[in-house]
Amino acid sequence: MALTVKRPKGTQDITPAQIYKWHTVERVASEAAEQFGFKEIRVPTFEDTGLFVRSVGDTTDVVQKEMYTVSATGDSTFTLRPEGTAGTIRAVIENGILNEGFPQKVFYILSCFRHEKPQAGRLREFHQFGCEMIGAQNARADADVIALAKSVIDRMGLQGIKLNINSIGCKKCRADYHKALVDYFTPHKAELCETCQERLTKNPMRIIDCKSPICSKIAEGAPVILDFLCEECDTHFKELQENLKAMKIDYSINPKIVRGLDYYTKTVFEFITTDIGAQGTVCGGGRYDGLIETLGGAPTPALGFGMGLERLILTMESQGVEFEEPAGCELYIAPMGDNAARYATGMIAKLRDLGISAEYDLIGRSLKAQMKYADKIGAKFVMVLGDNEIEQGQVNIKNMETGEQTAFTVDDTFAERLCDFLMASIIEGIDTEGLI
Ligand code: ATP
Ligand code: MG
Repeated sequence: MALTVKRPKGTQDITPAQIYKWHTVERVASEAAEQFGFKEIRVPTFEDTGLFVRSVGDTTDVVQKEMYTVSATGDSTFTLRPEGTAGTIRAVIENGILNEGFPQKVFYILSCFRHEKPQAGRLREFHQFGCEMIGAQNARADADVIALAKSVIDRMGLQGIKLNINSIGCKKCRADYHKALVDYFTPHKAELCETCQERLTKNPMRIIDCKSPICSKIAEGAPVILDFLCEECDTHFKELQENLKAMKIDYSINPKIVRGLDYYTKTVFEFITTDIGAQGTVCGGGRYDGLIETLGGAPTPALGFGMGLERLILTMESQGVEFEEPAGCELYIAPMGDNAARYATGMIAKLRDLGISAEYDLIGRSLKAQMKYADKIGAKFVMVLGDNEIEQGQVNIKNMETGEQTAFTVDDTFAERLCDFLMASIIEGIDTEGLI
């Protein structure tokens, strides 16, 4: 039989065999965020298209080429979120969180959708862990947000991930910079891709982020924004660096980073690995002091980052980092005969109530097949329960790792004693003599 419908290009199934990696990453990231004082927020998967056009920017690749926009009946159009910041900030404004005192700190783990050319580390549905800090103007906040991203990367056990920072200034500094870019790119106008020709008049800084090899080659010699920063932005950038130094966070300044989303101002940063090929940006973020006002809130400084979880996991795999293995089955009961099966049914219910992860035969397999199955699911202990054992009131529990057998009396307190034994030997790893 052949599957007639396959998963869409650029999407992935996360199978039960792989899910533990995701659980590790999600748990570690959430714990780090909570330790830094961020609280989780959950927002819709789709939003009004206008939200992304207004915030991400209508000259960005994301809006021009990558959005999945669906039209519902009637005239409204919705877009599957291509990133997490716009929806999160919309929710923060809409739920009055801006009135609850600053800074507000939220984090999320969510799926994003971009119509891109699928390749290693670049998917059409991918996942981000992200955070947003709202209401903090000071460069200490920038360092704190960068420190969270760094902490997540460190807690995952990753090595050699480089932090690059830059400042892309504010409206004031960008006016002069834009003029310089127009002067620089205009003589090359005919060589630029069609999109960048349009960007030249609308948003010349976007040309620097263009993925076309010709445009990026031309952009190599372009003026850099750092030479155009106003005093306030320049001071902010210096203070950021002082704070990073105080936190012992290594960084390099890369004046070429402009980031692919229009809402950024002042600080931008990326964490990059060389271990997973061309798509090595594991995390990207920055400050976006104008976004809240653009979306209709009171002018409020804010910043954040998005970390690509697929790229993070690929890097962990390539560096041989260990993920937490799932605990698995603690006890497998292999009943033989009708009486035993009935007894096992009651026993399994009691053991689960007592907190033991227990399984038993559900499809009437032979003892041999059951033992094979118990081995496959990684059962720590197995109890073979025949009608005989029940009649004689004695049963053996086998430790699958050592082969050691422990005899138990089958009576009214059996489940409780077995539970204590399993908890002690599996969870606590203590000597079980005296518990039987
Ligand atoms: P890139 O330059 O790789 O296209 P970007 O600038 O578009 O990245 P952001 O919008 O800042 O990325 O998203 C933050 C993070 O989300 C990226 O650093 C990356 O880890 C991840 N990411 C972005 N696009 C994809 C994708 N298509 N597939 C997988 N991960 C992605
Ligand atoms: Mg991109």
